[in-house]
Amino acid sequence: HNDNFQYPLRPDKMDWTEEHYPGWEKYKPSGTTADAVVPTVLDIGCGFGGLTVALATILPNETILGMEIRAKVTEFVRLRLLALRKEVPGSYENASVMRTNSMKFLPNYFRKGCLNKLFFCFPDPHFKRKNHPRRIVSERLLSEYAYFLAPGGKLYCITDVKELHEWHVAKCDAHPLFERIEDEKVLAADPCVNAMVTETEEGKKVARNKGDKYYAVYKYRDDLVQN
Ligand code: SAM
Repeated sequence: HNDNFQYPLRPDKMDWTEEHYPGWEKYKPSGTTADAVVPTVLDIGCGFGGLTVALATILPNETILGMEIRAKVTEFVRLRLLALRKEVPGSYENASVMRTNSMKFLPNYFRKGCLNKLFFCFPDPHFKRKNHPRRIVSERLLSEYAYFLAPGGKLYCITDVKELHEWHVAKCDAHPLFERIEDEKVLAADPCVNAMVTETEEGKKVARNKGDKYYAVYKYRDDLVQN
């Protein structure tokens, strides 16, 4: 399912208003220029959209985008969000979903320093060693993710696969532009942490099966970069 993606040539060729955030002027989007809206928070591999939906309320001033490679799943989330917007007029205007391969096309959609948060929730584990290059958190992609993050930006990852969690931590710890947030008080005070543990469909499934969840949160080391 990797072919036939349409994507803009450059981020400035992308108009997010009509298809994704037609009501964006109703909220006060962070990081937005006067006449255009851009996503500031990505739920990468959003699946059925539980976290995308939750983040819309938790982060009312952010513009949330779920990204999903499967067409039918993306359509499910799109209809889910439209229904929510209808149910409570004025709500969920700040959340949308897009079908794309986020391992390939992020640079076509996003400018340097435009994102405040990136979520990787229960990504496909790709257990076999020969498939490790397909993992969505990797040395190369972390450099891309750092490029898109704004000062103070954060990267969140969670999985029920211990080995994959260890991979996430090893890759992020080794990356000079990411620093783990270890302080339990800081993590507990961040509502996004609780949401990523409890609100995704995969997270709920793991809870029903009484499985373990492992997560880590990293902050972007903007102090090391000349912006
Ligand atoms: N985050 C959701 C959750 O926690 O419930 C879904 C987790 S599911 C195991 C992983 C999702 O990532 C799948 O829906 C899959 O289609 C999507 N995915 C895998 N590779 C992707 C890619 N390159 N770009 C966008 N989505 C991708």
